[in-house]
Amino acid sequence: MDVRLTRAGNRAVGLAVMMLVSAVIGSVVVAAAKSPAKPVTPTPPAAAPAAVTPSPTPLPTKYVVLTFDDGPDAEYTPKVLDILALYGAKATFFEVGQNVRKHPELTKQLHAAGHSVQNHTWDHSDLRKLTAARFQQEVRLTDQAIRAQIGSTPGCLRPPYGGVNPAVRQRARQLGKDLVVWTVDSRDWTKPGTAAIVQRVLKNVHSGSVILMHDGGGNRSQTVAALPTILKALKAQGYGFRTLTC
Ligand SMILES: [Zn+2]
Repeated sequence: MDVRLTRAGNRAVGLAVMMLVSAVIGSVVVAAAKSPAKPVTPTPPAAAPAAVTPSPTPLPTKYVVLTFDDGPDAEYTPKVLDILALYGAKATFFEVGQNVRKHPELTKQLHAAGHSVQNHTWDHSDLRKLTAARFQQEVRLTDQAIRAQIGSTPGCLRPPYGGVNPAVRQRARQLGKDLVVWTVDSRDWTKPGTAAIVQRVLKNVHSGSVILMHDGGGNRSQTVAALPTILKALKAQGYGFRTLTC
């Protein structure tokens, strides 16, 4: 219900995509706040081991949201996963459905490692240019591919190229999706060099930033090379990491 209120808030706030992002992050707080106050059992009861929930870690108050787009990718996604694990950071992956179909095990692995997996359309189409039917297909096929791996349906939709207009907003809403873009663009996809990626992120970051990077869609070796420095610096500055759910 809280999340619904947030969504309604989104509608009221309406058109500013950046504000949508802040509202969505707000929903993370709400979602987490209402999530389990269940006591944690140290030893799983033999009858129902699946019922044991891990002890919830409090959400960091100074935080960033790391997002990785266009994967999963056989070469770069596992590297990103390893680096995130090394620094104890959780991220949100906006996946392209046709890549999920190619590498379903990576989607499953991301989810199992505690990252959030969300919808970035089936084939990275610009949603502003689609018919209503095609829009639905892009979103639903991707939902299905992700759901088959993680058991739940993404609530966040990141429009390729950040391409949003009133029709995109309305169609997303009809499908129950919250549109999520970013506030800090690493521009890693332009391959500006590792140092430039690091600098762009660290120069623009503040608490609540949604940082855009890529684990798929091309050669992401610069992103992979930049990531440890970025994570080390963010941690040194006292940032924690939150993931997005919508
Ligand atoms: Zn993308």
